[in-house]
Amino acid sequence: MFDLYCAHCGEPWEHDMLHETPRGLGYMDAAKSFKVQGCGLFNTILRERIEGRPVVCKAAPVVSVAELSGISAAHELSDYPEEWDYDLAFCIFKPETK
Ligand SMILES: [Zn+2]
Repeated sequence: MFDLYCAHCGEPWEHDMLHETPRGLGYMDAAKSFKVQGCGLFNTILRERIEGRPVVCKAAPVVSVAELSGISAAHELSDYPEEWDYDLAFCIFKPETK
């Protein structure tokens, strides 16, 4: 299986996590929420109750700004996580290296 990457911090998650979200979302809803919330989708049941709304990942990025742009771009490619082509996106957003 492939990994998903949080668009806010770049942390990788196993794709299967979309089947096991805390709120018990269906797969496609989980994918949609992951685009917006990133890691927040998986570890916020408590904070979500406190704040009364879905929580977006606020972790410090573990990848470069260019890679975060690539991750966001990959998520824009499709509603289907299977079609989020991170390799292509990273390739496009990678700063010129010569
Ligand atoms: Zn994150």
